[in-house]
Amino acid sequence: RHPALELDRLSVDYRVRGRDLPVLKDVTLTIRRGEAYGLVGESGSGKSTVALALQRVLPANGRISSGTAKVRGYDIATLDPHELRKVRAREIAMVFQDPGKALNPSLTIGRQMSEVFEILGASRGDAWTRGEEMLARVRISGPSRVMASYPHQLSGGMQQRVVIAMALAKDPALLILDEPTTGLDATIEAEVLDLVQALRREFGASILFISHNLGAIAGLCDRVGVLYAGRLVEEGDAREIFARPRHPYTAGLLRCLPRAGIRKGEGQLDTIPGFPPPPGSIPVGCVFAPRCGLARDRCRTETPPLYGVGPGHGSRCHFHDEVHELPHVGTVAAV
Ligand code: ATP
Ligand code: MG
Repeated sequence: RHPALELDRLSVDYRVRGRDLPVLKDVTLTIRRGEAYGLVGESGSGKSTVALALQRVLPANGRISSGTAKVRGYDIATLDPHELRKVRAREIAMVFQDPGKALNPSLTIGRQMSEVFEILGASRGDAWTRGEEMLARVRISGPSRVMASYPHQLSGGMQQRVVIAMALAKDPALLILDEPTTGLDATIEAEVLDLVQALRREFGASILFISHNLGAIAGLCDRVGVLYAGRLVEEGDAREIFARPRHPYTAGLLRCLPRAGIRKGEGQLDTIPGFPPPPGSIPVGCVFAPRCGLARDRCRTETPPLYGVGPGHGSRCHFHDEVHELPHVGTVAAV
C-alpha cells in the first residue's frame, strides 16, 4: 500500500520577468493512509503552491524544477495527460478557502451534488438520492431543502459543508483543505473543524490540512509540517511540535497564538517581528536567521540540514537544543 502522498525534495519555481524565483525548495513529506497532516506557515510561505504542484495545476509561469510528488504511488509529474485526469478525478479532492468559488452560482446545490455522483457513474435519480444522503452525512439538517437551494441562499459555513460533502463523495485518496475556515467567523470555524474531525474518523480520509493558524491544526492533525520561505523547517507529531517545538520559527508561531486568560499587552505578541524573505532574495545560510533570536554567525553562512531531534521529529536549526530557552506557549488551546 502506497502512502496517500509522498513529496520527495519537491522544488517549484515561478518565472517572473525572465527570472526563475524558487518558491519551494526540497520539500519532503509523507502522508500515510488515514493520517491528517497539517501544513502551517505565514502568508506567502508556499502552502498553496504545494497543493497546486502535487496536482500538477500550477499557474502557467510555475513549474516543478526538481523532485517528485506521488499520490497513492502515482508520480504526478510523469503521468500522461489522460492518466493524470483520471488520478485527479478519482484520488484527489480539494476544498478551498472560499466556498463561493467552488460552487456554481446559477445551479442548485442538488444539481451540483448529483453531478458529482453522475460523473462517478450513478443514474440521475440515484445520483440525487446519494447527493441528499451525502448532505446528511456532513450533518446538514433538512438536506432536501438545501438540495433545492442556490448557493447564495446558504451561509458561508453551510456552503463550506456542501463543498466538503462534494469533496468526500468520491472517497478520495487525498483530501486537501486549503485554509478552509479562513474568513468564516470563529463559531462557524469551530463547527467546520469539528466536522472535518468527525468525517476523518468516519471516512478514514487522508488529509492535507493547510493553515496559517497552528491553533486550527492542533485539534485535527496527527503530524505537522512547518513551512517557512518555501522550506520545511520543522516536522513532527503534532503533540510533540506543540509541546516541544525545536525550531525558533515554530516557537514564534506558538507564541503568537491567543492564550486563554491573557489580554493583549500582557506579553502576548500578535506576530513574529520582521518579514519572511521574498522568493527572489533568500539569504545565505538559514532562511530564518534574519528574524531569529538564536541566530549567530554560523546561521548566516551554513544552511542547516534537517536534524533528527526525536522519533519522526526533524528541525532545520543548528541550535535546536536551545529552542526551549525561547519563550513560547507550552499548551495550545484549539480554536
Ligand atoms: P497564503 O497564506 O497567502 O495563501 P501561501 O503560503 O499559500 O500564502 P503561495 O500562494 O504558495 O503561498 O505563494 C508562495 C509565494 O509564491 C509567494 O511569495 C507568492 O507571492 C508567490 N507566487 C504565487 N503564485 C505566483 C505566480 N503565479 N507567479 C509568481 N509568484 C507567485
Ligand atoms: Mg495559500
